[in-house]
Amino acid sequence: MAFTLPALPYAHEALEPYIDTLTMQIHHGKHHQAYVDNLNKAVAGTPNEGKSLEELVKHAGSISPAIRNNGGGHWNHSFFWESLAANAGGTPSGALSDAITTAFGSFDAFKEKFAAAGMTRFGSGWAWLGVKDGKLEICSTPNQDNPLMDVADCKCTPILGVDVWEHAYYLKYQNRRADYLGAFWNVVSWKKVAERFAAAI
Ligand code: MN
Repeated sequence: MAFTLPALPYAHEALEPYIDTLTMQIHHGKHHQAYVDNLNKAVAGTPNEGKSLEELVKHAGSISPAIRNNGGGHWNHSFFWESLAANAGGTPSGALSDAITTAFGSFDAFKEKFAAAGMTRFGSGWAWLGVKDGKLEICSTPNQDNPLMDVADCKCTPILGVDVWEHAYYLKYQNRRADYLGAFWNVVSWKKVAERFAAAI
């Protein structure tokens, strides 16, 4: 069964003014769609056809660059859309809040470290918050890699990720990646991140 583009869990304009409507339309409808289409082409007629996305991503480095890039692109964007919500942001609570304080000292210190991971990713890639051995950690990956991949430098179970490719922010923020990363906090669904955290520990 071919991979398909998942519907956004909210309207294109739902994340305004932090992430603009046109960016959402192009990012989801064109960029994510292209990863889906190219992933389908990459697996068609090969022994990888019919494997789950998770299975492909896990072994991405040993399968093919096309599956690494497009399978990663499909997984990362599906995860990203679900990480965001309208009328979201604020602060996490409960066990997730406690784990952030334990790992990073404070919520503000966590935000600084996470933003720094996004800022220092040269070129295109992602910053992640993930769980490893029951503890939270922050890392970043290049291109469409992610921490589930066999080739990742930082292996963990991601619970939050931010896309720092220019296509994620350039229309509204141009070269100001830091402003985009600052606005990102207003649309993070801590409810979703907390669900993932509970499942990962
Ligand atoms: Mn993207």
